[in-house]
Amino acid sequence: MNLANRTAHVTFGVILGAAYIPVEFFVINKHLGIPFEYSWLYWIAAILLAIIGSEAPDFDHLYSFMTHRDIVSHSAIYPGIIFGLCIWWKLTVNDPLIGCFIPFLIAYSSHLVLDYFPNIDMRKLKDGELRIKEKKGYFLMHVPFIFKDKEGKERRTLGVKNTERWLLGNAFLCLAMTAVLAAASYFPNVPDFL
Ligand SMILES: [Zn+2]
Repeated sequence: MNLANRTAHVTFGVILGAAYIPVEFFVINKHLGIPFEYSWLYWIAAILLAIIGSEAPDFDHLYSFMTHRDIVSHSAIYPGIIFGLCIWWKLTVNDPLIGCFIPFLIAYSSHLVLDYFPNIDMRKLKDGELRIKEKKGYFLMHVPFIFKDKEGKERRTLGVKNTERWLLGNAFLCLAMTAVLAAASYFPNVPDFL
């Protein structure tokens, strides 16, 4: 069984992303005194964004110039752009709808965490033995250029340890941006403070 498949990505992403929505409604909107008239629209937008976010890193399949597990799509770069736009939106238009993008960021982060998890050998698990398949091949982060490792070997992928660090580090960055965005949406008039 491999947790880094599409079904697992979307399931986890949507569950975790959706878990945030009540926070937005009952903590942030209530605090801001925003009426819930448009709440159903908000739910739909947030869930759709969570679905997109949960699979977005694997959109590398779609581009001929990217290899699967591309280091750029499996990083905090795209979420960082969305985050930057949301902060800009908060500082200018100051629309509470930026909260819709928080489930997107959570789902993106959950994708990177799930990609960290190894292949578990289910046949062995039935016999009561937890065997993790070797992390190699598609587990590794693919970089867009060829580089030489310490032994002078040419590589197009990060090693196992660096791949693990990359996935968890970038997942953490996504969550940190989520927290900043949630905090920013909690305060009604951030532009006034600046
Ligand atoms: Zn992936």
